[in-house]
Amino acid sequence: MKAILIVADGLGGRPTDVGGKTCLEAARKPNLDELARGGASGLVDPIGPGIRPGSDTAHLSLLGYDPHEFYTGRGVFECLGMGMAVGPGDVCFRANFATVERTPGGLRLLDRRAGRIASGQADLARALNGIRLVEEPGITLEFLPSTQHRGAFILRGEGLSWRVGETDPHEVGALVPDAHPLQWDDAAARRTATAANEFTRKCVEVLEAHAVNRSRAKDGKPVANVLLLRGASRLPHLQSIQALYGVRGAVVAGGALYRGVALACGMERVDAPGATGGVDTDLRSKAETALSALERLDYVFLHVKGTDNAAHDKDARAKTAFIERIDAELFGRLLEGIDWDTTHLAFTGDHTTPADYGDHTAEPVPVLFVGRSVLPDGSAGFSERTAALGGLGRFSGRVLPMLFNYNNWSPKFGS
Ligand SMILES: [Zn+2]
Repeated sequence: MKAILIVADGLGGRPTDVGGKTCLEAARKPNLDELARGGASGLVDPIGPGIRPGSDTAHLSLLGYDPHEFYTGRGVFECLGMGMAVGPGDVCFRANFATVERTPGGLRLLDRRAGRIASGQADLARALNGIRLVEEPGITLEFLPSTQHRGAFILRGEGLSWRVGETDPHEVGALVPDAHPLQWDDAAARRTATAANEFTRKCVEVLEAHAVNRSRAKDGKPVANVLLLRGASRLPHLQSIQALYGVRGAVVAGGALYRGVALACGMERVDAPGATGGVDTDLRSKAETALSALERLDYVFLHVKGTDNAAHDKDARAKTAFIERIDAELFGRLLEGIDWDTTHLAFTGDHTTPADYGDHTAEPVPVLFVGRSVLPDGSAGFSERTAALGGLGRFSGRVLPMLFNYNNWSPKFGS
């Protein structure tokens, strides 16, 4: 048997999005409506009723892991998703280049994105990776840039802790704070904070002297003269999906965060050519990549991000158009290749992102299961409204375990 889980980020919406309709209701989506008529739908609270999900915690929950028990911060997923090797004792951060000025009180933030720096990051990273930390013995560092000002950062060594605060002041004009241990009696957190603060001081020296920044200054661009660290985290201690269910699968996702969550749960990474993690992504390519991974593996988790990007931009038209592309291009291609004798499919979102609000909210998200073991519930189509009347009712998280159950992959609880 095979299983495929498709998550459209921020899929859910509100009736205030498009004059009385959600974007999903406003979108033309014949393939999804047809699938819903032959399947069973319902509403899923990604984490639980009234809990406003982050994307990382929501994905853990949908994949079957209670984020209250297993979530250890976002940075580790960014590092994993970018392909960095993360060991059990490593402390992972999200990192971004920023522009600061020296003042008597400390480093004052001028531009949190260093003018959305678009070139030279690899050169800056090489210089940063040459920094040696000496205040606490035996700690090494690794920085990897991703897009524009963004990147991921790891501190490695014995006796470190992820219980440290950030060095990102978030607000222009504010001073860059020292990293602090979240508890003062935590020696490992103090040691980690000391290393992070030594890095901040040394990174300013290294970056200010760097040729990339001298040339940016000459061109009148904001210099990338500090690397801000946030989201300290460690590898979560969880049993892999393979250990829990005995099946092997892959993730197809353009965004590092989603790949990272899936890798932490034991999936392998398969990249689709042309997948960007945005509204411009190649959805047919993602479908084809998923189908070919499915020939070799038991299941695939496919993530698309454009729905959430459009909703964060408060662009209901773009969100609706992206849902129509999901239907025509992603599902259009998947439906050419799926063997319904051997495959169960689930489609949902990881949270609601109303386009008229522009951020995640706590409403449940429609979810759909299709395949020969699924009892059709007579749904008229696929939307928030039809899913509220669906046969699966309303439940919390655990969409992947529910999908696996249809394939008879679930371990029994009790005897
Ligand atoms: Zn999300």
